[in-house]
Amino acid sequence: MKISILKQLESKIHGEVFSSKEFREFYSVDASSYKIIPKIIVVPKNEVDVLNTVKIARKRKISVTVRGAGTGLVGSALNSGIIIDMKNFSSIRLSKNQVNVETGVIKGNLDKKLEASKKFFPPNPSIGSFCSVGGMIGNNSSGSRSLKYGSVIDNVIEITFVDGNGNKITLPKNKKIAKQIKKIVNGIDLEKFPKVSKNSSGYRLDRIKTENDIHKAIIGSEGTLGIILSAKLQIKDKPRKQILFVAEYNSVIEAAKNCLEINKTNPSAIEFVDKTTFDQIKSKFNKKSKCLLFVEYDEKISLNEKKLKEIITGKIIKKLQTEEEIEKWWRYRDSSLHYSLKSIKKENRIPHIIEDAVVPLENFPKLFSILNKLNKKYKTKSIVYGHAGNGNAHVRLISKRKKRDLIKKIATEYFDEILKLGGSITAEHGDGLARSEFIKKQYGSKNYQAFKKIKKYFDPDNILNPGKIITSKSSIIENLEQF
Ligand SMILES: Cc1cc2nc3c(=O)[nH]c(=O)nc-3n(C[C@H](O)[C@H](O)[C@H](O)COP(=O)(O)OP(=O)(O)OC[C@H]3O[C@@H](n4cnc5c(N)ncnc54)[C@H](O)[C@@H]3O)c2cc1C
Repeated sequence: MKISILKQLESKIHGEVFSSKEFREFYSVDASSYKIIPKIIVVPKNEVDVLNTVKIARKRKISVTVRGAGTGLVGSALNSGIIIDMKNFSSIRLSKNQVNVETGVIKGNLDKKLEASKKFFPPNPSIGSFCSVGGMIGNNSSGSRSLKYGSVIDNVIEITFVDGNGNKITLPKNKKIAKQIKKIVNGIDLEKFPKVSKNSSGYRLDRIKTENDIHKAIIGSEGTLGIILSAKLQIKDKPRKQILFVAEYNSVIEAAKNCLEINKTNPSAIEFVDKTTFDQIKSKFNKKSKCLLFVEYDEKISLNEKKLKEIITGKIIKKLQTEEEIEKWWRYRDSSLHYSLKSIKKENRIPHIIEDAVVPLENFPKLFSILNKLNKKYKTKSIVYGHAGNGNAHVRLISKRKKRDLIKKIATEYFDEILKLGGSITAEHGDGLARSEFIKKQYGSKNYQAFKKIKKYFDPDNILNPGKIITSKSSIIENLEQF
């Protein structure tokens, strides 16, 4: 008699295996509005457990989806088969300018360890300390300081993972695999990749210039190519001094225009918040203000201050120099998502779907014009904040009309306009359930074929997080919880 998948996993796994209703409910949601109930949850104790889970799943034709901290905004870590939770993979080994981390490490723990040596890992998602290193690599995350220091893809040296064949692979070390993947990459149409400073859509084959870059195919792959066990991250010395300016603008478009000039002064961050956020900040603002820009420098402070004052078109209202003050104001900016939720009645919230597009900075003002047009057409309102220096706007839509079709319509039109501006449908949150169906449009069929070849190479039976990145199905309005 054939034993059940659950029994087989229970007999092979040294860690824990769960299938009770409570656990399946817990793992059915993340920070998105989607919900998918999985069948089984595996919490592996070691890498043999991960290998065995994949091998069993492959034989028994059930999916395996890896989960970090579950803070993703588009349901990337949700699926119906096995969910594998990497929380026991928590070791951190620090050397001079690198750190070896297992992927269950929570960002806050990594930050603490690095801080003791006056170092930092640059990508800093606004979720702060709560996300995992695995999730950050899975989504190619970034944050305010990615303007100067790049996204995860710019700061990872090596990745060790288990692919869908059940093989443990280290890239770029494994030269045989690197050669085979590079061959696929040679066939891509680079012109169809957006020329933006951050991009988490599809597979980032555009970043593979030599075989030494092959691990970049895994970064941003949302658990569809492999379950990452550990990674070697590049770390930097903490800047000795920082200065943060907060400036008010009477026009959102004016602030968006000004970002291009400010960016030329090499700031470590330029962030944007609209009235929804600053209405929640306990400070006095001009009644006419429509938005704020946060501009930070972490080198050549006085020279950069002088340069900024020559080109800024808004009014500087804060010049913050102590660590305490700077942190306090960054907390306001990082709370924008929370403030946006606080300010909209639950019944008027539209799920995150168009919340993360990015355009070349010179087109950033046009992104706001597009939003205004869509808001008029569909009688919606929007709250915007985001990583302005990168041309990356986080948009929260508000509407009384809770129609699924409306969401799909708005998303399709918005993404079409973003593509016309040379942008990407997602800068840092990934494709997940909201955007995977738009990837072919984003990259064109030649590149999509290359993505499919990469998927087939690492996961020929499509067991790793199926339905994400490579899919022929529409999932944008399926499995939305409150619809
Ligand atoms: C309030 C708020 C603010 C946010 N701000 C930002 C921001 O500024 N910048 C930003 O980039 N993101 C932001 N996010 C989105 C999210 O927090 C980040 O993308 C985060 O890095 C995801 O990490 P996680 O551990 O929660 O991943 P999960 O949600 O658990 O997973 C994300 C993806 O990574 C995959 N994954 C997880 N672990 C592994 C692994 N070991 N191997 C392979 N794949 C893996 C999953 O399968 C999934 O596809 C924000 C979210 C919230 C709720």
